[in-house]
Amino acid sequence: MDQLVGRINGSFTTYSWSPIRYIYGCVSHDELAGFYRDSAVALVTPLRDGMNLVAKEFVACQINQPPGVLIVSPFAGAGETMHEALICNPYEINEAAEVLHRALTMPEDERTLRMNSLRRREKANDVNFWMKSFMKQMGSQIEEEDADEVKSVTMHPVTMDDFEEYLADYIGQTNKVALLLDYDGTLAPIAPHPDLAILPVETKNVLQRLSNMPDVYIAIVSGRNVDNVMNMVGIEGITYAGNHGLEIIHPDGTKFVHPIPAELEGKVRDLLKSLQDQVCKEGAWVENKGAVLTFHYRETPACVRAELVPQACKLIESHGFKVGSSHCAVEARPPVQWNKGRASIYILRTAFGFDWSERIRIIYAGDDVTDEDAMQALKGMAATFRVTSSSIIRTAAERRLPSTDSVLMMLKWLERHLSQRKPGGEDTMRALKNKIIARNSSSLKVEMSFVPISLKGAEESALEESSEEH
Ligand SMILES: [Mg+2]
Repeated sequence: MDQLVGRINGSFTTYSWSPIRYIYGCVSHDELAGFYRDSAVALVTPLRDGMNLVAKEFVACQINQPPGVLIVSPFAGAGETMHEALICNPYEINEAAEVLHRALTMPEDERTLRMNSLRRREKANDVNFWMKSFMKQMGSQIEEEDADEVKSVTMHPVTMDDFEEYLADYIGQTNKVALLLDYDGTLAPIAPHPDLAILPVETKNVLQRLSNMPDVYIAIVSGRNVDNVMNMVGIEGITYAGNHGLEIIHPDGTKFVHPIPAELEGKVRDLLKSLQDQVCKEGAWVENKGAVLTFHYRETPACVRAELVPQACKLIESHGFKVGSSHCAVEARPPVQWNKGRASIYILRTAFGFDWSERIRIIYAGDDVTDEDAMQALKGMAATFRVTSSSIIRTAAERRLPSTDSVLMMLKWLERHLSQRKPGGEDTMRALKNKIIARNSSSLKVEMSFVPISLKGAEESALEESSEEH
């Protein structure tokens, strides 16, 4: 370690700055708390379990605004419960560099949200909480009134009871609910052509009824362009986000468009022409969605795909766009730091204010790698579903749903749950909550109880893009 630090400092130090301040020795308690408080990023990456308290102490000291970002190793036990921390495998050097970069460039609102949730959990999981959990592990008869259960990460097959178990406590009797839903493959089954992916009548009817409930907020977050997805869904008074959130139409009709560098506009036209001229053959075609182009190859014979798809990707990159893969399609996206995750946070903040995560319950459902951005951004702050028939696809979602039918069932469950709320339930619930809080300082867990304790496998493998074809 000494040699490595010496080498790095020897190569990069100037007379007013050195890249590493290496402290080998003790610092006082107060000094350490100051370091924790002022750090932009804490990288706690033991090679095996250990240093858990360092992560917790860092979180406890984060009183500055904006706060810092915590990165933990999947090998530290803390990684299993500190869901809002970024995870970084210290053996994967390139990945570690990427995670570090993500932490250093993380927007202020996301840092604040993550740190608020981390701090809330550490506050609730105090010394009494840990004592109780140790005693319980040892088989001691201790009150189990607020014991968390370890829940399964899959939901096969799905019944109304599954949703009752997973969502009833989380949604509760008084909370407003924000539903963020992808369209293709989530609400409407995937079809050979985007125009044929029709919203089933039953799904539309439930959504329509939910949208009329005062406690429900609905946003459709799609990769289609915003006018197109609005047409396909056809429900008024809800939010529509198109092109993965680059365009958003709010319920009052106002529109948000994420700025795209001006020089890209001409390039979109050039790229469209190049794709049409060079790779649109044997049934392949390009959909023009404004800022985003989609190259569809579902109808193309497999032997031709192997040649056309890499060629399309090359054209997209050579025009300065990012390649994104979708169901039998490749997308050309503008190179901006905006995705369904950033868009979801923007939508929630616009609708519910800066402290949205404290004020509403959020359900997100999506079927695609682009939805993983949202599941990752909302981790620990929402109930998240990945629609997939596979149990091995990597996902940051908390639950898997096998099909669009099970999304419909979730919507029906929500409708039933909300319409069974008793008038006056709010007062009763508030009284009950106050009572619990007065009695037991760890009772804040009541509000977080939907988070499955065991996310070990998902957390480790999560988040990296895995392309999936349906
Ligand atoms: Mg989709």
